[in-house]
Amino acid sequence: MSAARTVMIVEDEPKLARLIADYLAADNLASQWIADGTQVEPAVRAHPPQLVLLDLMLPGRDGLSICKDLRQFTDVPIIMVTARVEEVDRLLGLEIGADDYICKPFSPRELVARVKALLRRVDRAASVSRFARLVVYEERHQAQLDGRTLDLTPVEFRLLNTLRSEPGRIFSRNRLLANLYPDHRVVTDRTVDSHVKNLRRKLAAAAAGEDLIRSIYGVGYRLEL
Ligand code: CA
Repeated sequence: MSAARTVMIVEDEPKLARLIADYLAADNLASQWIADGTQVEPAVRAHPPQLVLLDLMLPGRDGLSICKDLRQFTDVPIIMVTARVEEVDRLLGLEIGADDYICKPFSPRELVARVKALLRRVDRAASVSRFARLVVYEERHQAQLDGRTLDLTPVEFRLLNTLRSEPGRIFSRNRLLANLYPDHRVVTDRTVDSHVKNLRRKLAAAAAGEDLIRSIYGVGYRLEL
């Protein structure tokens, strides 16, 4: 399993939905397709996506009222898709809470670029870093591996955050110590080793036993994702 993010494609034209899904997949973005306007809100509640592509004209319910309803309970990024350029100005004026707008016909590349730009913006605002299978929420001091939340102590969090700041780099014990205890508390190399051991165990538990921290004898540690 990867930390792939899911985009909900709300679109009543199957061919277009499939085309968008293919382009997103090429950029490692998973997708979920909803064709009926009435199913959007329950689906977002059941499995919150990381972004919603919302067509304006839909059977069942129109995108406008769906967008307003979603905003009652979620700040999931929303890109509205409309068939008419003239519509965009009106939509902007309505302040329905969408984050971006794109007009049909669009190039799938352009759409994917917009999706990625919006996801980056949201990540930056929340100081979220993603690397391979790992997602680090710096402000919340939380991390996920393969989509599973890791139950880390503050020191283990800092250790993981340091190791993932330069993936593949070997960090010496001294370097890790400096990052783990910014107050220069006097601790021994053994302290680092025991925190690494605990972190390694927690990562392995989330990754089906896989060992993701490599010890390089006499040098230090590195994260291998
Ligand atoms: Ca439509």
